[in-house]
Amino acid sequence: MRIQEIKLYSVTLSYHEPFRIAPAASAETHNMIVEITSDSEITGVGESSPSERVTHETPQTVREALNKIAPHLIGTSPLRIERIVDSMDRIIAGNPSAKAAIDMALHDIIGKTTEIPLFKLLGGFRQSVLTDLTLSIKKADEMAQDAIRATRQGFKALKVKVGMNPEEDFERVRKIREAIGSETTIRIDANQGWTVNQAIKVLKKLEPFDIEFAEQPVTTEALQGLAKVRKKTAIPVMADESVHSPEDALNLIRDDTVDLINIKLMKSGGIHKAKKIAAVAEAAKVPCMIGCMGESILGITAGVHLAAAVKNIQYADLDSDLLIRDAVTSDGAEIHDSRRIPPGKPGLGVTKLHKKVLGHPVEVYG
Ligand code: MG
Repeated sequence: MRIQEIKLYSVTLSYHEPFRIAPAASAETHNMIVEITSDSEITGVGESSPSERVTHETPQTVREALNKIAPHLIGTSPLRIERIVDSMDRIIAGNPSAKAAIDMALHDIIGKTTEIPLFKLLGGFRQSVLTDLTLSIKKADEMAQDAIRATRQGFKALKVKVGMNPEEDFERVRKIREAIGSETTIRIDANQGWTVNQAIKVLKKLEPFDIEFAEQPVTTEALQGLAKVRKKTAIPVMADESVHSPEDALNLIRDDTVDLINIKLMKSGGIHKAKKIAAVAEAAKVPCMIGCMGESILGITAGVHLAAAVKNIQYADLDSDLLIRDAVTSDGAEIHDSRRIPPGKPGLGVTKLHKKVLGHPVEVYG
């Protein structure tokens, strides 16, 4: 089997409401969708949701990276993922979200070729995955209302965005916990927004509020920042922006810096390398979460498959598609009461792409 054609689509997807995290707010997400067709007429799909802040990518750089990568893939076997991942890294460094789109589409092709749903092909550890719903930063009272709404919708876990003013952040979490009671899990994510001293202070104060973990409380640049915070609080510390690769995971674990690691396909360059991060972490008994950037249901479905497949991916924050108004497909991972269910169809199980949302391809290779 050979790769015959690669098509690239550019999509702009609006959020239901502007989404605010510590560094910035966004009203929409600019994603690229990749379609790879083999000479046996099997088509795989993948998605890139670039983040300038996290991976230094924009829709333009994704397009440029794929312009370099795609011509080299034409005529090669889509089943040789390790080989293709290696050659993508040789062609161009970085650009993980561009590579993730290719990686996803290749996994989709392997699943369709073997007629096995991806989560089973990748290990099949569990049948469904509990996801949180992320609460965008607002005034404390408004976030408490959003939290109540989410629990009424059935969400069993909430990820509360913080990382602004520490006193106001404390109030946000306190009011949310008060509003929803003790049954629902609360995780917080500061997106590097606090200084080390601020993080230590606010996390200490939050300890009585049953916080499952605190994601990236301080900047990736703060020397030993995560480790310093971790030593001073009982709330487990999760690295997100600090971990992109298996090497990053190894270095943080070796320095005893984190309790948990947030893997994102857009940071790792796709499923293949995400599995390696999970394996490195598993060897050190560090559990992982799968998170997301601004993926639509397509990219989220890939995350759900991986999270269902791998034992050490014990947490999931796979909800960006729920915040997006425009659907690129009418199938993919469903959600029932906070649990995401990987499709039982071969591969990713995303088959009904809405060509109207995708428009015409911006590039065709092959
Ligand atoms: Mg995060």
